[in-house]
Amino acid sequence: MPKDTKKIAIIGGGASGVAAALTLANRGASVTIFERNERLLAKFITTGNGKGNLANANVSSSCYNHGEKIEKHLPYLYSEVVNFYKSHGVALFLDEVGRLYPYSKNAKASASILISKLEDLGVDIRLNTNVDSVSKKGTGFLVNNEYFDYLILSVGSSASISSVPLDNNNSTLLSSLALETTSLVPVLGAIKVKENLFSIENERRDISMSLYKDGRLLATEIGEVHFRKNALSGVITFIISSHLVWAYKIDSKAKHDIRINFLSSMSEKEIKEVLKLDNPIRSLFSERIAHYLEGRMKKDKISLSNTLTNLSFTPIIKNGALFNHVTNGGVKLELIDLDTLSSTKDSHLFVVGEVLDIDGLCGGYNLMFAIYSGIVAARHILTEVVN
Ligand SMILES: Cc1cc2nc3c(=O)[nH]c(=O)nc-3n(C[C@H](O)[C@H](O)[C@H](O)COP(=O)(O)OP(=O)(O)OC[C@H]3O[C@@H](n4cnc5c(N)ncnc54)[C@H](O)[C@@H]3O)c2cc1C
Repeated sequence: MPKDTKKIAIIGGGASGVAAALTLANRGASVTIFERNERLLAKFITTGNGKGNLANANVSSSCYNHGEKIEKHLPYLYSEVVNFYKSHGVALFLDEVGRLYPYSKNAKASASILISKLEDLGVDIRLNTNVDSVSKKGTGFLVNNEYFDYLILSVGSSASISSVPLDNNNSTLLSSLALETTSLVPVLGAIKVKENLFSIENERRDISMSLYKDGRLLATEIGEVHFRKNALSGVITFIISSHLVWAYKIDSKAKHDIRINFLSSMSEKEIKEVLKLDNPIRSLFSERIAHYLEGRMKKDKISLSNTLTNLSFTPIIKNGALFNHVTNGGVKLELIDLDTLSSTKDSHLFVVGEVLDIDGLCGGYNLMFAIYSGIVAARHILTEVVN
């Protein structure tokens, strides 16, 4: 594409915006990124505890809410994202369960590589520049009083920034583009529960955690739970929190409950033997957990075996202030052509990344979709404007 013929604005310099910018600029497009932060990829560098869990090789529709709506893309998500990083000079490492990381295990180093590429390609990067609203001019847009032919909206979410509301202070911007959102709920975080866990706060335990809807099993994860004073936390809880919110949005009236099996590592035979011990609870748990379980057994009038293998917790789903990694909900998918990620009403407007009503499980699925969606939108703009 001859430079300066068509101008493309990208609002938001996170993973999705940067992926779109690089894809466009590699083909000579004139790209401007508007970023409210003082740096690009600010969230990206904090991901995966600083290591950056970039993608996951095991992709299926059940890894995303509305996964069935992006079914066509699923076979390409992983390979496109791998190619993206490799072609920009980020060496990769795939772990034994399919999680992809930078070989450096350092998201900051990977971010620096991508940002240098943007600079080398002459992308106009406007840092500390918030975009409050956008207006239409002809087929294009006025962004902060400047004309652009195409607009990519990649404003992400406020996940993990507790001082910023769930709408990421972008409701005026989205309204100016006639983009409505579904309700926003924090996910991939601790799950608040009705039960008081103060007496076992900060205890950790290897367990299996299952989510039930009206008594029907929806999901199970095995790993460590971290008890907080009014919440369950830990990586397995983060995954269950996504399933919980997805299920809740489908049917908010159903009874959702979380059950913990404290003996998930034991065979049935071992469990039977343990239950025959004089005081199984005291012999299996720390004093604090034992005391809590005895209290629950008495209060809920449940058997010892149920207490140890099927202890129920009632989740509270609301805009909790507990730390979360992702925001569920976003721009309504019926407003978007999911093949190209352009607006169904405006073929020059594209919406990518977490601001869309698509979120994935813990394990690299969110960054993978952010990067992939940026690439898809950019490619579509290129096919429209080249020639
Ligand atoms: C602590 C943490 C760890 C995570 N770890 C992982 C992980 O290991 N693997 C994984 O897959 N996912 C992880 N995630 C989720 C993942 O980081 C996000 O889903 C992904 O970064 C979303 O990318 P995005 O580009 O859509 O949005 P964002 O990264 O949110 O970027 C949006 C950008 O737009 C800017 N912006 C917003 N509004 C405006 C405006 N009006 N004007 C100008 N600029 C604006 C913001 O400042 C931001 O830089 C993690 C999230 C957190 C918070």
